Amino acid sequence: MKHKATDKIQELHNFGEFGGVNPSISDSSTYTFLSAKTMFDTFEGNTEGCYLYSRHSSPSNLYLGEALAALEGTETANVTASGMGAITAVILQLCNSGDHIISSRTIYGGTYAFMKNFLKKFNIKTSFVDITKPELVEKAIKPNTKMIFCESVSNPLLEVADIKSLSKLGKKYTIPLIVDNTFSPLSIAPGKLGADIVIHSLTKFINGTSDSVAGAVCGKKDFCLSLKDVHDGAGMLLGSTLDSLRASFILKNMRTLHIRMKKHSENALYLAKKFEKDGLRVVYPGLESHPGHHTMKAQMVEEYGFGGIMTIDVGCLKNANDLMELMQKKNLGYLAVSLGFYKTLFSAPGTSTSSEIPLEEQEEMGLSDGLVRFSIGLDNDIQRTYKLMKECMHQLGILNNKVPSFT
Ligand code: PLP
Repeated sequence: MKHKATDKIQELHNFGEFGGVNPSISDSSTYTFLSAKTMFDTFEGNTEGCYLYSRHSSPSNLYLGEALAALEGTETANVTASGMGAITAVILQLCNSGDHIISSRTIYGGTYAFMKNFLKKFNIKTSFVDITKPELVEKAIKPNTKMIFCESVSNPLLEVADIKSLSKLGKKYTIPLIVDNTFSPLSIAPGKLGADIVIHSLTKFINGTSDSVAGAVCGKKDFCLSLKDVHDGAGMLLGSTLDSLRASFILKNMRTLHIRMKKHSENALYLAKKFEKDGLRVVYPGLESHPGHHTMKAQMVEEYGFGGIMTIDVGCLKNANDLMELMQKKNLGYLAVSLGFYKTLFSAPGTSTSSEIPLEEQEEMGLSDGLVRFSIGLDNDIQRTYKLMKECMHQLGILNNKVPSFT
């Protein structure tokens, strides 16, 4: 089945004061009330449209939240000061001491560390499973399981979650499905496939300029309001609030997201196909050889492609480091973590963004130390990029006769 773009971003328009074409930025931490009664009602959460204090909400954050809800097709969305701010608030809102989480074993290292280490303080345990096998997810369900968590396309192994099947399973046992959609905005709309809550690190593709850290929780009104509750809302009480100025930047950048995602995907698919043909071990969901290719095809919005992230296993850490340094020297991108920038970014996840995962577990999940993760940029001439990247690989003996043996 072909999914068509049904996001409602294009329908949004908000004017600023004096008819500005961008909404005004709310430059206040606190707000006045004409009557003391309205202030009291607002504290009780009863007055929609009234602002109280910017940790609770602000007009700029609401504009951005509205755009994210339109992106994901959810009732509403809250924005947070980081992706981790969104993830931790959702987990702590849904889980109490003694509860249990089922999570994909391949997820961003920070999320993994939070679940595995930090949640020990609250006696909340996580079973990490191969999320591509729903039967293993079902087997891991316990009476105290409070959420199933996965990334739609996982960091860094690019495993593709079958969101419809996972959602069905969640509904069977009344367990909410939480999907981090950071790697595939627009390409995948988890909320429309049955996810209960969709999370983003806006720091990545959605903002796209590598200048802001932010996150979002997209979901039902009741849940998003509960996060803001002054008495027991994890968003409100843990204080992971996004600054209004940053929110206004991100909203403006979101207006080009559809164009950027198409270009990231087009470039990544081109390079993935070329390097696979050259004999390298490339992982990219757009390749027929990817185990999740058909799952992705069945749930993606085709026009946005398979996303901008691919990995190449160059055999060992030395090769990975040499290649990244040489590519940076040749101005092919930056040796940097994060993703979604206009320039290609590369890092070796085993020693960076996934270093929180113990080595034995990295090995078990197939995260080898020669793996390089690429966030492919918006290069206008991708043929030239390919040629130059290939030259770097030749120079280091990663391609041709000296290709490391992959066992
Ligand atoms: N989710 C994914 C998939 C990520 O890759 C990251 C960061 O790399 C995060 C969440 C955390 O986001 P942030 O750095 O904005 O807190």
